Amino acid sequence: MSHAFNYCPNCATALQMLSRMEDGGEKSRLRCVACDWTHWNNPTPVLAAIIEMPEHGGQVLLARNAAWPGRMFALITGFMEAGETPEEGIAREVKEETNLTVDSLKLVGVYDFQRMNQIIVAYHAVARGEVVLSPELAEYRLYRPEDIKCWRAGTGYAVADWLTARGITPQWVDLPARPTAS
Ligand SMILES: [Zn+2]
Repeated sequence: MSHAFNYCPNCATALQMLSRMEDGGEKSRLRCVACDWTHWNNPTPVLAAIIEMPEHGGQVLLARNAAWPGRMFALITGFMEAGETPEEGIAREVKEETNLTVDSLKLVGVYDFQRMNQIIVAYHAVARGEVVLSPELAEYRLYRPEDIKCWRAGTGYAVADWLTARGITPQWVDLPARPTAS
């Protein structure tokens, strides 16, 4: 998924890890000696949706990504596209990945996800329609909110906060050990 930068995307000179004074002090980063381009490596915003389905008694849709090992069900997530608001982005992702139409969105919170150099912007999405999964999702399940088990990583904390705000004490589950090779 993530690729290392070897060459300057501006002038194709090989990048070097160089130390330089910045506003926050001396910092080593990949830099281009020819055109002064800097690889800032800023975290990427990722949109996430806790999808509530009033047509199914207010159950929450979680989906399993086809690329994941194990039987882990999680929120619908995706990257923003240029030229869209976060709200437009998550409504688009929900449509693309589940075929559901989002009727309302409310921000749950912003969550740290440093392992992937991402920051998660999580929404509560009320949605309707017939679920048709995109090929990247293998299956989905509908959960009563009180039955959802929260995982101790970015989007899991978002679910926990959402449940807590609804007066439900979150239940926690430990994630299976992650393969270190990937
Ligand atoms: Zn350059």
